[in-house]
Amino acid sequence: MARPVRVFQHPNSLLVGHVRNLLEGAGVMCELRNWTLAGGMGDLAPIDCEPELWVAFDDAPRAEALIDQWRQSVEVSSSPGARLSRGWRCQRCGEWHEANFDTCWQCGLERPDP
Ligand SMILES: [Zn+2]
Repeated sequence: MARPVRVFQHPNSLLVGHVRNLLEGAGVMCELRNWTLAGGMGDLAPIDCEPELWVAFDDAPRAEALIDQWRQSVEVSSSPGARLSRGWRCQRCGEWHEANFDTCWQCGLERPDP
């Protein structure tokens, strides 16, 4: 691979593997560095040996665009704001409700103010 460029790094090797699948699925060949199977979910590697994803120089702009896109979709689906707008939790019984319910179907308590 001529003049590889690092496009992604993360302490979670599962995430790095996910991004590699994403890129290779789009036809961008990747090289993994500092990859270890030990760094799974919640088991973070030290910062100086984080798994890294490298691509050929010519593929870097495309890889970065794909990663940006993926990152935005992850942030939208996991941000607290997105979660709040989708539903609410009853303060009395803890039941989870979709946003279109105004009262708890379980105990009748009204939806708390945001
Ligand atoms: Zn309730």
